Amino acid sequence: MPSILLLRETCKFRVKPDAKQVIILEELFNSYTEMVKECLKRVISLGISSRKRLHEVIYKELRVKYSAYPSHYIYTAITQTLAIFKSYRRLYRKKKSVSLPRVENLNSILLDDTHLFWFNWGRLKLATHRGNVVLPFDVHVHSKKFRDWQVKGSRLVRKGSDFFLHATFKKAVEERKSEGVVGIDINEKSIDLAVVRPDKVRFIKIDVSEAKYIRDRYFKKRRRIQRKTSGQKKAELLAKYSGREKRRVNEVLQKASRFIANVIAEENVTPVMEVLTNIRERIRCNRSLNRRLHSLPFRRIQFCVSYKSMEQGLKPEHVKANNTSRTCPICGEFNKPNGHVFKCKKCRFYADRHLVAAWNIAMKLPMCRPLPLAAKVFNEPQVIEVRGKG
Ligand SMILES: [Zn+2]
Repeated sequence: MPSILLLRETCKFRVKPDAKQVIILEELFNSYTEMVKECLKRVISLGISSRKRLHEVIYKELRVKYSAYPSHYIYTAITQTLAIFKSYRRLYRKKKSVSLPRVENLNSILLDDTHLFWFNWGRLKLATHRGNVVLPFDVHVHSKKFRDWQVKGSRLVRKGSDFFLHATFKKAVEERKSEGVVGIDINEKSIDLAVVRPDKVRFIKIDVSEAKYIRDRYFKKRRRIQRKTSGQKKAELLAKYSGREKRRVNEVLQKASRFIANVIAEENVTPVMEVLTNIRERIRCNRSLNRRLHSLPFRRIQFCVSYKSMEQGLKPEHVKANNTSRTCPICGEFNKPNGHVFKCKKCRFYADRHLVAAWNIAMKLPMCRPLPLAAKVFNEPQVIEVRGKG
């Protein structure tokens, strides 16, 4: 039986309440904030972290106090409170100097999809203390792909005097049977792919060095700003450049991810990537290299690739990448890595180190057997250069 892959994505819409509805929404935000405040007080004083317990000690009280409000706001206030408390506790365990969570002005309300809102394209019906209100919103181009998706729990968000719906969409995709694997090795300057199918092997090096140069350039810029400016001006400049850097790096990485997604779909292969904790542990060099690698958005690339392959019905796999850049893919011998070329002292095989790593990652899956034919194509990888708009 094929299994089901669940896709989940959030899409933002600006809702356009009229003057009367704005008042209702403001009242709703205020009361909801109060509910969460009271829940949080109880959670902290009694040390509660279970939803059942919190419900027992507070539901009736809030129900009486906020009797005009649909009762499900209390349910979602409880959920939201526990999320706030749990993230506080996680931080507290990591480092002790975290102040207790406080809620002054909550700017997001968790909505229950079966009781508090009904999503129609262009119209949001919301249950409130003054009955149901219908809020119009614009349907933008990006949201078109969600037409046949299901709407799940979402959030109503307030930003200044504007209101937004962050709608969560869900879709079930039937898992497809793949015909092979693609090992993906993510590095600073390149993303290397080893496509292994029963009938063919293909190596691809995607040059993403543009992303590295952008990061290097902005790192220098930021350092200069930090030295030469101060106060408000410094903060403004840093924010401006950090936004620009992110956009430009993202552009390159998104292009690369799209390219990888196309390879996955074309070849009908299962993507195999390293478990991320390994990447960080593997790299313990000097400080500047550390800085460079830690700012590398491994996670974002992995997430994009995983998501896009799931859209195709191909489930991504993650493997522990022990020794992937040291093992000889031909004879299995361990070799000390040395520069960008992998050389095997036993069988004399040599090739680009990152392509070897990608190949080894692919072979971590039992369904992938080494093929003699691979060695032949190995020295002629396809090279793709990915650049932003400039
Ligand atoms: Zn060898």
